[in-house]
Amino acid sequence: MPQKSPFQIDIPATDLLTYLFPQDEQPSDIPIWIDAIEPKHSISPKILLEWVKRLGVGLYGLGIEQGEVIMMYSHNHIFVPVAYLGISGSGYIFSGCNPAYGVDETVYQIQNTGCKAILVEPSLLDTVLRATSKANFPRDRIYLFSDRESQTINGIHDWRTMLGSIEAAEKWHWKTFNKEQSQSTVAALNYSSGTTGMPKGVMISHQNVIANVEQSLYMRDLEQSYHPSNRPQERWLGFLPLYHAYGQLWSIVAACKTLSPCFFMRTFSYAKFLEHIQNHKITHIQTAPPVLVMLAKRPETSSYDISSLQNILCGAAPLSKELQNEVSAKCNVNVVQTWGMTEVTCSCLHVPGGLDDRSGSVGLIDPNAIIKLVDEQGKEVGPGERGEIHVKGPNVCLGYWRNEQATRDTFDEEGFLRTGDIAVRDEKGWHWIVDRKKELIKVKGFQVAPAELEALLLEHDHVSDAAVVGLKLEHEEFPRAYIVIKDAYRGKTSDRDIERWVAERVARHKQLLGGVKFIEEVPKSVSGKIQRKILREWASKDAKNH
Ligand code: AMP
Repeated sequence: MPQKSPFQIDIPATDLLTYLFPQDEQPSDIPIWIDAIEPKHSISPKILLEWVKRLGVGLYGLGIEQGEVIMMYSHNHIFVPVAYLGISGSGYIFSGCNPAYGVDETVYQIQNTGCKAILVEPSLLDTVLRATSKANFPRDRIYLFSDRESQTINGIHDWRTMLGSIEAAEKWHWKTFNKEQSQSTVAALNYSSGTTGMPKGVMISHQNVIANVEQSLYMRDLEQSYHPSNRPQERWLGFLPLYHAYGQLWSIVAACKTLSPCFFMRTFSYAKFLEHIQNHKITHIQTAPPVLVMLAKRPETSSYDISSLQNILCGAAPLSKELQNEVSAKCNVNVVQTWGMTEVTCSCLHVPGGLDDRSGSVGLIDPNAIIKLVDEQGKEVGPGERGEIHVKGPNVCLGYWRNEQATRDTFDEEGFLRTGDIAVRDEKGWHWIVDRKKELIKVKGFQVAPAELEALLLEHDHVSDAAVVGLKLEHEEFPRAYIVIKDAYRGKTSDRDIERWVAERVARHKQLLGGVKFIEEVPKSVSGKIQRKILREWASKDAKNH
């Protein structure tokens, strides 16, 4: 039998702005989104709402149809929550592009979303101009987007020039949603390759976001010494990228809902991270395993006073119980795991926040969600047996943007989402992630889709066939390519040549840091599909010699 969550909660069925700014409440004027380097530079929910309304009026003024996508290409800054909530709150769809993307990766997202306007951080304008010119995107729909007013560059104006006036914004009110609208209206398109193929836009509804914030907060308040209505004041560090679901959920929506000041880092550097925890007395962070590796192994950790830290939520990639417990002991902090993916908005399994769990578990099923674990034949497995996680719940996405085939393939006959992650569950309903059967490679918590790198490698003049797989080392994973070189170029192309060629064309986390190996033939099934199981065996052998 599919296992229901042991918890059931009421989830408000409305739009994001009404959820965060109920009509009968005055928005708070305490700073919530704070620049970690210059803390006086901050925004409160009250100020955010004023900007959100001006953005809503401005976007209507551009004549863009409701339900269209507005893309953002920016590092984290305190105005990103304005973009996220202003775009989704006024009936458009927010899509964040990774600011580390190169021209072709950006072209892909521009074309795949079909976005109608782009907000770009001024320092990143060059890439966006090259991408938009390749994609034939109109220049007058590009706006400079920074937390400070920008001068016009190359004819591209500051986003403030597009906003509605303060007077117009005061008169404007967003459309409030009923249950059906909350469930069916897309708020964000976050990119993920899912279980197979190229990155796709995951349609996240208003209801999905609200549900996942409520589920996640419920789980973190469980087993705590306080009552949820009286949660002690927390201070968060906002370094998770805001183009990703994990950053959006915590640093934008949950921070606003719980009025937890969140100190934003534009980009991540370990020394700055420690310094901010020390200076701003950060109590809680949401993060991924690479940061725990640094906390455990890097000597700088002991040079800072990080004793304010009480709780680390860790997800996005596998975390061994040894590392979890090492960080817990070294930093005297509670490390709790969560499991999720972009297609479930962010998370769906959590260790209750108040428990000191040392077992490496990713915990219990979030409220209102249902999980079944199934074997290769699609049959459910019992406690102690390995099975793929299939999940249903109010946080499960609507499907993939303009890609009905991928959507159909991703849901099973009973409407459960196939996740491609393998877990084991015990008799008490606790889960452990034990493997990943999908193609996806995770590098420092970021997604790498083998299909994307394979398509790129096939564009190389010397390559006749290619397959990419994750090379798993102790705490890390890197893309590794197995390549067939065309006869004419054998002995004339080196593995380093290929690695360099790829590095010039992709974001850093997609580089072939797991190496390149030349082979005679890519293993394929009779139907021509790459046999990834064989590749994984090769990579696991190669990892031993690495
Ligand atoms: P993303 O969609 O970028 O959030 O990536 C989701 C994928 O990250 C999942 O499908 C898993 O493969 C992996 N993942 C997320 N959380 C965990 C976890 N706690 N343990 C192991 N893998 C995880």
